[in-house]
Amino acid sequence: MTTDALEQRIRVLPESIINQIAAGEVVLRPASVLKELGENAIDAEASTISLWTEQGGKILIQVSDDGIGMSPIDAELCFERHATSKIQSAQDLYRILTKGFRGEALASIAAVAEVELFTRRPQDALGTHVLMAFGQKRLTEPVRCTPGTTVIVRRLFHRLPVRRKSLRSDLTEHRHNLQEFLRLAYPHPERHFRFYHNQTLLYDLSPAPLLERILTLHPDLPPKALLPLEEESPLFRVYGALVPPEYTPSTNREGFLFVNRRYIRHPGLQQAIYQLYKPFLPAETRPLYWLFLDIPPDQADINVTPSKTEVRLLHELEIRAMLSSIVRRTLARSTWTLPTEWLQPSPATLPSAPSAPPPAAAPPPPRPLPLNPTPPLASEKPATRLSFLVMHDRYLLLHLPPEAWLIDLVGAHERILYEKHRQGTPASPQGLLFPVSAPATPLQLARLAELLPELNAQGIHIELREGREAVLHAIPAGLPPSAGTPLLDFLLEIAQTEALPPDWREGLARHIARHGVPRPPYTLTPEAVETLWNALCACEEPNYTPAGHRIRFYLSPEALEKLFT
Ligand code: ADP
Ligand code: MG
Repeated sequence: MTTDALEQRIRVLPESIINQIAAGEVVLRPASVLKELGENAIDAEASTISLWTEQGGKILIQVSDDGIGMSPIDAELCFERHATSKIQSAQDLYRILTKGFRGEALASIAAVAEVELFTRRPQDALGTHVLMAFGQKRLTEPVRCTPGTTVIVRRLFHRLPVRRKSLRSDLTEHRHNLQEFLRLAYPHPERHFRFYHNQTLLYDLSPAPLLERILTLHPDLPPKALLPLEEESPLFRVYGALVPPEYTPSTNREGFLFVNRRYIRHPGLQQAIYQLYKPFLPAETRPLYWLFLDIPPDQADINVTPSKTEVRLLHELEIRAMLSSIVRRTLARSTWTLPTEWLQPSPATLPSAPSAPPPAAAPPPPRPLPLNPTPPLASEKPATRLSFLVMHDRYLLLHLPPEAWLIDLVGAHERILYEKHRQGTPASPQGLLFPVSAPATPLQLARLAELLPELNAQGIHIELREGREAVLHAIPAGLPPSAGTPLLDFLLEIAQTEALPPDWREGLARHIARHGVPRPPYTLTPEAVETLWNALCACEEPNYTPAGHRIRFYLSPEALEKLFT
């Protein structure tokens, strides 16, 4: 440890690096100040971080830490633009493991507010006090203070009436502050955080395991509402927790995604997760999860926006597919509840018995009905006393005493078709009365020529008319003729790529499954139901469609009984 007062860790970045950094305003509102100061405290290896705000941060924002502190020379330098101790060369931009690297936050904050800094390295006897006001240095002096750093920001935007006016009510700004606070507290459960507003201590978060931290911040969730997960793959590691649909608060509007412990928005990944939950959540509700992805920093570029809330992933598609599958598997482990609206008898679906008097008061909400998504295989053999009912032209209520199931027929057909074609089982062709044709480039025709033997084996017959077009004469038996046009389009699309996508067979199976499903309404004979059920039970994954939508729910007698108590 050095006590050299002149030790300088902070350097002003050269122009060449500055030009490679996503430029733009970082201080938009009190919450941005809180975020930047909180991130600096984390980067300074603090174990305890206290944040204070007054009047939504408009009057005061203060962040104190017990981290490494700064030397007197760094205490002055830190307010320079592009002054940072976190990167030195352009290559460092691809190895960022700290929250900060732009060296702009303190300079930007000091330009629009009064900023007071107290900082002391643990090895120094005295600290440094610096006062900045609206871009001007007012004072630097030695000071007695505890080791670590305190930054106090007062009168934000005081000299900028337009910016000040654009701030919302204290309450709204406070809400933004809290949001930023949570985004720092979730990924760092090993640190102690305190948050005060108007001198009231709102959060006192001692170091704790991640799940405990989440539950402390969500006292409304019972511990069993968290499905923990942790998986490692060559491209990334993911850990965290998911809340299954039945425990998701209907008011929930966001899930928490972190890359390298930084809160980020990534519509691609978030949408993929949402798609898995969507069939089981009310329209406005978004899934609740905390997913932490650790990705090597040279494959996750955070230098996209000044606020560093977006990330460009080198292997986005692979990560998305793997993450979807991990989330789906984790959800499948849970005990699911049938969405309650499906269970409430409504006159349209279940006419009430004529003698039943109208209910005097609204009935109590149905209790959650535990469903077993993977009952023992032995019980999946169709019983002889099979009875069934098709509801809303699409949903099959199947009774195989003592079991009962609710099945989405579209999803079930899709899964069966998918598995059949995925295994590449030879299929017989079914000639099209009206062959489908489409113009094709020489490249597309050449690619299709390579695929012909495999396609033929799957019942797909294509005629290649050199230099002009491709004509589809037959599709796999069992598909509706309407599947022809989309199938040819799909094949021309994959044939257009420089090299065939490695997963084209998987893509084809999914495509055939999606377009091969006969459309509702369904009229089913008992034999057809039995065949369908057997085929579904023989599937590797009988509970979800290839896109992750739920196919069936198990209604156990106990679960049904519980529903009516
Ligand atoms: P960046 O975090 O991008 O480097 P900042 O403007 O936020 O830029 O901070 C500038 C520098 O000031 C940091 O690189 C760091 O060396 C120093 N610094 C800021 N806050 C703290 C702190 N709480 N403790 C120790 N050093 C700090
Ligand atoms: Mg910073």
